[in-house]
Amino acid sequence: MGDKSIQPVFILPENTRRESGKSAQRLNIAAGKLVGETVRTTLGPKGMDKMIVDASGDVIVTNDGVTILKEMGIEHPAAKMIVEIAKTQESEIGDGTTTAVVLAGELLKRAEELLDQEIHPTVIARGYRLAAEKALEFLEQIAVKVTVENKDILHSIAETAMTGKGAESAKKLLSELTVKAILKVKNANKIDRYSIRIEKQVGGSVEDSELIEGLVIDKEKVHSQMPDRIENARIALINAPLEVKSTEMDAKIQISDPERLQSFLDMEEAMIKKIVTKISGTGANVVFCQKGIDDMAQHFLAKKGIYACRRVSKSNLEDLSKATGAKIVMNVDDLSENDLGTAGIVEQVKTAEDEAMTFVRECNKAKTVTILVRGGSDHVIDEIKRALEDAVGDIVAALKNNKVVAGAGGPEMDIAQKLLVYADSLSGREQLAVRAFAQSMEVIPRTLAENAGLDPIDMLAELRNAHSKKEVNAGINVFSGKIMDAWKEGVIEPLSIKTQAISSATEVAIMILRIDDVILAGPEIQSQSKTI
Ligand code: ADP
Ligand code: MG
Repeated sequence: MGDKSIQPVFILPENTRRESGKSAQRLNIAAGKLVGETVRTTLGPKGMDKMIVDASGDVIVTNDGVTILKEMGIEHPAAKMIVEIAKTQESEIGDGTTTAVVLAGELLKRAEELLDQEIHPTVIARGYRLAAEKALEFLEQIAVKVTVENKDILHSIAETAMTGKGAESAKKLLSELTVKAILKVKNANKIDRYSIRIEKQVGGSVEDSELIEGLVIDKEKVHSQMPDRIENARIALINAPLEVKSTEMDAKIQISDPERLQSFLDMEEAMIKKIVTKISGTGANVVFCQKGIDDMAQHFLAKKGIYACRRVSKSNLEDLSKATGAKIVMNVDDLSENDLGTAGIVEQVKTAEDEAMTFVRECNKAKTVTILVRGGSDHVIDEIKRALEDAVGDIVAALKNNKVVAGAGGPEMDIAQKLLVYADSLSGREQLAVRAFAQSMEVIPRTLAENAGLDPIDMLAELRNAHSKKEVNAGINVFSGKIMDAWKEGVIEPLSIKTQAISSATEVAIMILRIDDVILAGPEIQSQSKTI
């Protein structure tokens, strides 16, 4: 050997941090479990809320899993992976984000116990995969068919989504609005969740919330002389400024002769007049313009009795097009009668803060509708809005594959029991992983009980008992502390809320388990790679 002694080899830059082997795994699991623990207390009708204050001092009070996690600004890489599944759940369904995250946390916790028993992560992963596949099968077995005809079920789905949230106090009304909205926008049984807009108006109470067959645009009329209300509205959507072209205005024009100045101004006026005459010539009595409308154009539009809004966003213009049937026109010269859309009423409504919004009502062919949420404060309305979004998402999800299940912890207990039977058919170590998965499923009913201040051990024993007697709809009544028939009590959820939560929780748990090396690039490297 002598002078050929081995030098340490560095393949990574100096400021790279690295955790490998067991410690990497344990740290990741700990982070994942922590995320689960964080949102756990919010699960279910008796779950608590969280208050999050962001860097600028804005306050959010919410019970919504994904909102909490997004706003917390989580940085740990493994924890972020869990946040991602909440986001996926949110974009796929809208609801069930807490469930997905709590499940993932529990799967990691049980996996850790298996690791302590020297079971290899790949064995756990295989067992978890087998179990998840079976779980989805078992769920299919207890699922019940639902169609748009089953209005009672749709109401129950909406109410279940809103129970215990800010929307609780008016959940009857709000679920009615939700179902009505769904039936309105359904298009040959296909429903786009985003064709139901949820808008807020501070002032009044939740009970004043209403369904508008059309849209609410957060703009007021541009000129006070314009009418406040137009019946039988004929609507033009224009994506061009209604003003003398800015280039012509910007050019420096030196006019010394007052007469020539007058003729210049006259010319301008004539141009604007021409534009307005063109618009009113088509029969339009309402104009939504994506660009500006200058003073003179406002004046002439008002004189013609036309209601106009300016700087309406592109997405609003697109939704207006869907709701009223109007075509968006890029050039006023091209505007014709055929481009106009219709609405029963367009009107300006004053809101609490001395501002006004424009309501476009009675769009008969509306493929976009709006649930206008009223309430005492921004915080209250925002939380109601989130609950309503869950309700809409759940009904759309239920009608997508026409399947629902009873909730209240029942499905998870059902899966747990069937998985334990299934586990017996497996050999050795995988059996342990499937058992761990089965026990993980029980975290949902256990947490529902805990959050309701009930004794989790008793409640789980009773629930287990009911399910072993094939009462597949047995769930926890968090209000009475008894076992109930969740279906009869109207606690109903889309099947896909459960399948999505189980699939993504399993995936992320496995992914975290399989990591044995965490390499944190130093800040310079991170910033370099960002600029690439
Ligand atoms: P998530 O973000 O996962 O949707 P929630 O706080 O909305 O979390 O809680 C959902 C859980 O609450 C589900 O397991 C559901 O079955 C249960 N749940 C909803 N309504 C009731 C009820 N009335 N009684 C018992 N459990 C309920
Ligand atoms: Mg929910």
